[in-house]
Amino acid sequence: MARYTGAVCKLCRREGQKLHLKGERCFTGKCALERRSYAPGQHGQGRKKPTEYSMQLRAKQLARRYYGLAESQFHKYFLMAERKGGVTGETLLRICESRLDNVVYLLGWGASRAESRQLVNHGHFTVNGKKVDIPSYLLTPGDVVSIKVKSRESEKIKQVLESSAAHPTPQWLDLDREALEGKVLDLPTREQIAAPVEEHLIVEFYSK
Ligand code: SF4
Repeated sequence: MARYTGAVCKLCRREGQKLHLKGERCFTGKCALERRSYAPGQHGQGRKKPTEYSMQLRAKQLARRYYGLAESQFHKYFLMAERKGGVTGETLLRICESRLDNVVYLLGWGASRAESRQLVNHGHFTVNGKKVDIPSYLLTPGDVVSIKVKSRESEKIKQVLESSAAHPTPQWLDLDREALEGKVLDLPTREQIAAPVEEHLIVEFYSK
């Protein structure tokens, strides 16, 4: 399935949750969900009681949209989580969290996951000293993500750094603001993952 390229605010309105896909705007009164807190479309204001299946589908779609993943990629992560053992839903979220684009976003380098992904694609980061421009690269504890020395002079990166100052860093990451380096201390516990997702519904969805 191709990546969604339509109006992203519709995705939040569809899921009834702020997915923070538009950076700064999401924190202002211009947020579309605050202005129209019902689903988009002709029948958006008159939906029926959800079925068990529709709740499972919505949970899966919400998680996928939160991380900006295509269906094939998300399903691949689910299968990976199943193979790893443990609590599948939590492992699935942990895999999504450990993606390079997500970690870059959590370090404050990007106003949204989409922007962080673009910065990764443009080759602005290294992992353990080597350039990595693959947003889906999965990080493990001990990995160090840095902004490339050459990129620190770019206007885009300077702009990103200016707006990243107030961004709180999750406990499982350690950010050195001087060195412009972020270290993965450990993979996050469920409590440290902010995704507003009921992951057990996702497991039920794929287990049918
Ligand atoms: Fe979602 Fe942000 Fe749009 Fe609000 S402004 S609907 S949080 S993407």
